[in-house]
Formats: sequence, structure tokens, C-alpha cells
Amino acid sequence: AKSLGKSRVEVYNEFLLASVTTRMHLENDLRRALQGQEFLLHYQPIVALPTAEIVGFEALVRWQVPGGPLIFPGDFITVAEETGLIVPLGLWVMREACLTSLIWNQRFGQERKLGMSVNISPRQFAQHDLVPEIQRILIETGVDPATIKLEITESGTMGDPARAVHILSQLKLFGVQLSVDDFGTGYSSLSYLHRFPIDILKIDRSFVSGMVEDTDSRQVVKTVMALATGMGMQVVAEGIECQEQALQLTQMGCDFGQGYLFSKPLPEAEVVAMLSSRTAT
Ligand code: C2E
Ligand code: CA
Ligand code: CA
Ligand code: CA
Repeated sequence: AKSLGKSRVEVYNEFLLASVTTRMHLENDLRRALQGQEFLLHYQPIVALPTAEIVGFEALVRWQVPGGPLIFPGDFITVAEETGLIVPLGLWVMREACLTSLIWNQRFGQERKLGMSVNISPRQFAQHDLVPEIQRILIETGVDPATIKLEITESGTMGDPARAVHILSQLKLFGVQLSVDDFGTGYSSLSYLHRFPIDILKIDRSFVSGMVEDTDSRQVVKTVMALATGMGMQVVAEGIECQEQALQLTQMGCDFGQGYLFSKPLPEAEVVAMLSSRTAT
């Protein structure tokens, strides 16, 4: 029943998604993809600055249409979010990432445990059964919860900050860590941030890419660093593409980074090969 036309899938892009029929096709295809196990994860290293030692990975979902192209989340996450398909997809991502973390830490986590960051979408965060679902996956996979970092966005939490505090506190009890993703792009209420049991702030790529040339971006990065340090949170800078950015971030005291300078998101086999060669040396 894999009659999915390659040509149709190839034309999914933000421009065409404006078309209602394309969106309908996409929704149907996403449903089928979920049943047909066409999703997979790529893993982008997160490194310590300035040594570039790998401390963990972020799990990023991909859609491999059989015999077709690899589709990136930018072309389907919005529709998955709007249709609610992100809920089962997100739970699949969580389970898969937990299993991977378990296996990689058994093989490569002797000296230092490897972290695994998992994105939780606003729609997922709004589900009334998020907490028991996460708990079930942690228990069923047998992963060490201390290796798991759940990435939430400001928009996922600020609609109902009091509820968010409650949910986040429950998740913390499982032993996972919590990150705020794309920090600085949403509008967070700083008066609530300190009440959230957040461990990590991820500075959005837009500030990092601007920081070398643009003093305003650099100032934002500095301010986020000060804020995080003051609240006892760690900072991960996203989207580091050049040495100069890494250097400036290090000088500002940023401990962790992620970006093409270090590595693109990689298929599982490539990460295993990389970690194996690292252990061998
Ligand atoms: P994000 O969570 O901010 O993830 C980082 C994105 O930036 C990834 O794009 C990554 O490939 C890209 N990136 C990393 N380093 C660099 C760099 O140096 N330069 C540039 N230009 N880009 C870099 P990707 O994988 O296409 O994912 C895009 C977004 O889709 C993610 O942004 C996240 O919001 C969403 N997403 C991905 N996987 C999942 C998932 O499993 N669940 C949910 N809810 N959302 C996901
Ligand atoms: Ca993320
Ligand atoms: Ca991000
Ligand atoms: Ca981002």
C-alpha cells in the first residue's frame, strides 16, 4: 500500500503548504507515515566549549518517504502540530530517543554519561496526560532519566504559567532535566522563569548568528548568560557555525554549544561510528 507518489511529496514546502489540498494530502501522508514507520531520528552532538568534547545529542525527527526524499521537520511539523499528529509522533520520538540513550550509554557512557535532548512541542505540552505518558516511556525503556533533557518552548508554557510550573515540577521528580528551547524568541515572562524548575537555557540560533557583527545580538547573548548564571542554569548556544562565534561564546562563559561548526545532525550509524573511533583512540 505504498502508493505514495514521489512527485507529490517532493513539492511539500512552506509555499505550497498554504494550499488547502496540499495540506490535506500532507495530513493523510503523515498519518500513513506514522503507521508505516517512516520516521527516523538524526542526532546532533552537543559539545563542551571550548574543548568541543561531545557531552550529548539532540534528537531531531526526519521523515523518510520510501523510495523518496528525506523530509525535514520544517516541512511537516507545523501541520503535525495543527492536526494533533505531533502528539503520537512526539511520543514515538521520546521512546526512540530513550532507547538510543540507553544503548549509547551502555556502550560509550562509562567515563561520562551522554545526554539526550528531546523536543516537546507546545501541543504535546498541553496534553492532560503528558506526565503519565512520559513516565510510562521512562519506565518501559529502562533509560537512565538523568540522561534525558526535555526541551520545551516559551510558547508552550506561557499560555498558562501556573499549570506549566505544576507539570514541569512533576517531570523533574522523574529525574529528567528541563531546557527552554529557542530562548529569547518567544515572549517569556521573566517573572515566571525563576519559578520554573529549568536546568538549561538554549540561546536561539538567531542571536548566535548575529553576534559577531551585531552588537545588539551580542548584548542579548550576554544578557541571557547573566540571567542563566544568576538562576543557576546552564546555557547551550545553538547554531554555532564559525570559530569566532565559539570563541566569543567561550569568553562570555558559555559552557555548551551546538551547531554545524561541530557537526550536523547525523544518522544513528554515523554517531555510533564516531563514538566507536573516539573510544578506540
Ligand atoms: P530546534 O529544536 O531549534 O532544532 C535545531 C535546528 O537547527 C535543527 O533543525 C538543526 O538541524 C538546526 N541546526 C543545528 N545547528 C545549526 C547550524 O549551525 N546552522 C543552522 N542553520 N541550523 C542548525 P531541524 O532538524 O530541521 O529541526 C527544525 C525544528 O523542527 C527544530 O528546531 C524543532 O523545533 C523541530 N523539531 C525537530 N525534531 C522535532 C521533534 O522530534 N519534535 C518536535 N516537537 N519538534 C521537532
Ligand atoms: Ca530543540
Ligand atoms: Ca532550538
Ligand atoms: Ca531554533
